[in-house]
Amino acid sequence: MTVSTLPPPAPEWVSCGTCRGLTYGPRFDRDLRVCPGCGHHSRLTAGQRIEQLLDPGSVQPLEPPAVSEDPLGFVDSHPYPDRLRAARGTTGLAEAVTCVTGTLMGHPLVAAVMDFRFLGGSLGVGVGAAITAAAETARDTRRPLLLVTASGGARMQEGALALMQMAKTSQAMAELDEAGILTICLVTDPTYGGVAASFATLGDVVIAEPGARIGFAGRRVIEQTIGHELPEGFQTAEFLLARGLLDAVVARSALRPTLARLLAAAAPGTPAATAPSRVRLVRDPAELPVREAADVVAAARHPQRPTTLDHVAQVFDDFLELRGDRCSGDCPAIVGGIGRLDGRPVIVIGTQKGRDTAERIQRNFGMALPEGYRKAARLMRLAAKLGLPVVTLVDTPGAHPGVDAEERGQAWAIAETIRLMSGLPVPVVAVVTGEGGSGGALALAVADRVLACAGAMYSVISPEGCAAILWKDPAAAPRAAAALQIGSRDLLRHGIVDAVVPEPPDGAHEDPVTAADLLRAALIESLQEIAAVAATDLVARRRRRFRRFGTEESRWR
Ligand SMILES: [Zn+2]
Repeated sequence: MTVSTLPPPAPEWVSCGTCRGLTYGPRFDRDLRVCPGCGHHSRLTAGQRIEQLLDPGSVQPLEPPAVSEDPLGFVDSHPYPDRLRAARGTTGLAEAVTCVTGTLMGHPLVAAVMDFRFLGGSLGVGVGAAITAAAETARDTRRPLLLVTASGGARMQEGALALMQMAKTSQAMAELDEAGILTICLVTDPTYGGVAASFATLGDVVIAEPGARIGFAGRRVIEQTIGHELPEGFQTAEFLLARGLLDAVVARSALRPTLARLLAAAAPGTPAATAPSRVRLVRDPAELPVREAADVVAAARHPQRPTTLDHVAQVFDDFLELRGDRCSGDCPAIVGGIGRLDGRPVIVIGTQKGRDTAERIQRNFGMALPEGYRKAARLMRLAAKLGLPVVTLVDTPGAHPGVDAEERGQAWAIAETIRLMSGLPVPVVAVVTGEGGSGGALALAVADRVLACAGAMYSVISPEGCAAILWKDPAAAPRAAAALQIGSRDLLRHGIVDAVVPEPPDGAHEDPVTAADLLRAALIESLQEIAAVAATDLVARRRRRFRRFGTEESRWR
């Protein structure tokens, strides 16, 4: 069997199915079959997709497993074998999926690419067997698996045998989770029914092309059921991204570099050749100045203090944001993704307050919703699966107090994240970079090494909240701040943090580049301290670290 990667030649002029604009055929091909007028991403054949994504000359076909054809002897207006023969004739393909091995910008992978032209990309025994075999090849060769989906759903002509392919392919994905193999789903237009409800949405990372429609039930079926029309954009990639169901929507022109960055996360990586800048972490509270509580609070909340995304841009290479909790939403107050630190892939998660008024409003001032903590938990599980260290950056007044947050289980989400972190089998370093507000901060800070930036604060409640409750007077906030002992010196003294990251003399906001350099060096040093510790020891030590609080042992000296 050979893989036909030669696309059918584009006609001299191509008419866009959306804007009706005409494009010169060769230019349309050069533009990866995206309309230059309106950006509509036209459907690709499996061969076109493989040619667009994989490195030339790297592609090797995977033989499709033998399966029983027409297991039911199915006849509608035509016998099923006639329909299969016709699909094979028009597409030149054996089935609705083509599976290959190859490389993508040099990264080895296994790819299974669906072709909607073949009986609507329907999932039958042939597709189920091929996807499963591709997953098993990925498992046995320890290569990441890329699934490119396009399907109307399960293949009716194979009855319940087609339905069972959802279970077969889903368990193949589960085996890759157990084996720690990265799985990426590229969901393309349209992906529905049994494919959407199995392997297409089970990847570690699920990305979609702009405008792609994805769902379980089709639009028309839903409209008939509910008796009214659905809004424009329903079930599109953008609609689903906003609801936390996709990691990213990526234009076709950016797919190859984006996928390459993801694939790089599955490679162990080597430390950068250049020596990282050094930092002397402060471990003795006596080396830190005694500061007025009001100054501590003002510095930690300084509006120009670098935000998590400011630090991420300086500290990590190649940060790729992954969004959504795969359940109910994408919280803008928590950002996370894969980045590289000193040449090695890490999962980065942090609270984001916003740099200006517009962003602060959009980010809800860094106050996360339950879906933010669920996104963080999802990324931590991904780190555990891939064996990647986790770095968290904490700068939040606290978790969002609100009706919506309560309705969706704020307390449950925070508790779940705390418990998850206490058992993560990978190195975890948390840094309170600004404001460490209560449970909403701790939910990201159950770590092997907990650091605070010199100008940071960390507290069980905001000084204002404490003043209102205990002093019955919000004006008593400075007194409450002093009594709560929330500055880095006190945090170190109480063992709440293991070390303090120095800041530039006039504060991080005066010299954010130096502040990020110091943070980067602190992270590299802290991860190096625990890199060689076995996972079971790591978890045992982390649990000891948090178990000792309240005993004399927890105080510094
Ligand atoms: Zn167009």
